[in-house]
Amino acid sequence: MPIDPTLPYDDDNVFAKILRGEIPSKKVYEDDWAYAFHDINPQAPTHILIIPKGRYVSWDDFSARASDAEIGGFVRAVGHVAREAGHVEPGYRLLANVGNHGGQEVPHLHIHIFAGRPLGPMLAR
Ligand code: AMP
Repeated sequence: MPIDPTLPYDDDNVFAKILRGEIPSKKVYEDDWAYAFHDINPQAPTHILIIPKGRYVSWDDFSARASDAEIGGFVRAVGHVAREAGHVEPGYRLLANVGNHGGQEVPHLHIHIFAGRPLGPMLAR
């Protein structure tokens, strides 16, 4: 069920629980700004989610309210994870769903990294 991105941050969302270690995740990477883990329902041979450590509902919320240090740290972490996993040369795809039309289901900003095969058209036709 898509979320309403205008609602305030919900500390009970599933990714907040993962950050607090209350539910398990398959960790890929962590630093001061970001936490990366494998998607529970992968849509490609590699499907990693990267989330900021801060309490941000969506890309819209993050880009409006996060500090320059948080934004810089998070963007560098996304690049680092893809690079370290060896996806730069074959290529990969980043995706951030926002709100209802974006199909966002978890109300904590997450960037999807898809890789491991040719990914086809950008959007379903
Ligand atoms: P979105 O539609 O962009 O909000 O994507 C949410 C993603 O979170 C989906 O790809 C789900 O498979 C994934 N997801 C939901 N719960 C978990 C979980 N506990 N661990 C890992 N991934 C999850």
